[in-house]
Amino acid sequence: MKQISIVLFALFLLTFSTSNAQEIEPCGTGNYRSEWLDDYQQNPTLYRTVTVDTLFLPLKIHVVGTDDGGGFYPARSILESLCKLNEDFEPTGIQFYVEGEWNYLMNDNWYDHNFSQGGQMMSINNVSNAINCYIVLSPAGNCGYYSPSRDGIALNKGCLGAYSSTWAHEIGHFLSLPHTFVGWEGQDDFDFSESAPFFMGGRQVERVDGSNCGQAADGFCDTPPDYLSFRWTCSQVDSSMVLQTDPNGEKFRSDGTFIMSYSNDACASRFSEEQIDAMRANITFQRPNLLTNVTVQDDITDYEAEIVSPLLAETVTNFNSVTLEWEPVPNATHYVVHVNPIPVFSALFDEYVVSDNSLTLTNLEAERTYFWRIRPYNAFSTCTEYLDTSSFVTGQLSDLTELEAATDLEVYPNPAEVGQNWQVDFQLSARTPVTINLYTIDGRLLYREAYDLGSGRQQLRLPTSDLSGGLYLLEVRLPKGSLHKKLSVLR
Ligand SMILES: [Zn+2]
Repeated sequence: MKQISIVLFALFLLTFSTSNAQEIEPCGTGNYRSEWLDDYQQNPTLYRTVTVDTLFLPLKIHVVGTDDGGGFYPARSILESLCKLNEDFEPTGIQFYVEGEWNYLMNDNWYDHNFSQGGQMMSINNVSNAINCYIVLSPAGNCGYYSPSRDGIALNKGCLGAYSSTWAHEIGHFLSLPHTFVGWEGQDDFDFSESAPFFMGGRQVERVDGSNCGQAADGFCDTPPDYLSFRWTCSQVDSSMVLQTDPNGEKFRSDGTFIMSYSNDACASRFSEEQIDAMRANITFQRPNLLTNVTVQDDITDYEAEIVSPLLAETVTNFNSVTLEWEPVPNATHYVVHVNPIPVFSALFDEYVVSDNSLTLTNLEAERTYFWRIRPYNAFSTCTEYLDTSSFVTGQLSDLTELEAATDLEVYPNPAEVGQNWQVDFQLSARTPVTINLYTIDGRLLYREAYDLGSGRQQLRLPTSDLSGGLYLLEVRLPKGSLHKKLSVLR
């Protein structure tokens, strides 16, 4: 029996925060300089790195939703954001891969959190030997932040995507980089027509002539002065509109190409050579644990997988159990599957993540046309394309299936406390084999039990003693279809 799996999102409920975007602060990392960077910049010869090889770093991705499982950042957007992150880091020789499965968390207090709640989220869920990244609705009102004390990154799902450098910016902080304007955080109202003071935020203010570049601000001499601690738009030559005045009275504009500045995504595109050297030294000397146990997976390229079934525009006999199947894509470990009743996917109706090259749909309506497409990926290769959209037509309501023999699926208590048993009740109108499967929300099979049941009311027990808090998917599988129910366990 094929193992299918499964993330089904309530995508109707997903709204991207656009209306209140102007209230979001770019970054909550603040006036932060790592002690390691201070030491590195004072004694750079102690930190010579020899390797020019690509450094592969593991990301543990935590996708945070509400208590009732809504609001998760869609899988397709996670892939687009990961692709952009690796593009932003390409010139650094640092690349990122996904460690294990995405970790789905349901908690209102983490989904929209303050720094204290975010710290709790990280201390409970961080895994070791990975960069822990939490994708939430609102990380303390910012697009993102790196917490030095918890050593984790929180990201606003409205600030990620194919055109955003927010993720790269926060990982820059994780790998020891301060803002290019470090010391100026919070100085939004400064009158930049006046000469800047010699010190700001406990740091020397950097001068245009380069005379104090090694000690001032971020301590990098190839990132020129920048005092702008608010989101700003670039001119056509990628510099700031705002003219600033250094302590010598010299006027300048900020360079908007730096990812560690607050210029907007249209111009932020790079790290400086000194920033790159510092990040690579930081990995090698402070975070060597991130470099262990890497087995690089091959890229997914030049694939043309064929749809196996249903064939394009085929009318299938069932409507409540339709299996999609496609040829495996070389090097793919997972597929995102989109199923829509309209031929475009800008609005997503159903999105699934599966680890096998097939998926059984049980939530379709009769006599409708559905459009579907798949996108392969693996932990290292997320810049992949969708295969051509295919379609099929579902069968008529009157086509009886054995699935209709099972009705009234009830499970209680739901949510359950750890250690309580679930009672699974349903009605069978005839004798039939039934398999009970329990999956994690990202599709790992945890429990399977097969029964041969007679007709009538069924009452089965399902233990929760080995489960941790979170969301699970129950499947009651019959020969020609399945019933599903989302279950949750409280910790
Ligand atoms: Zn920042």
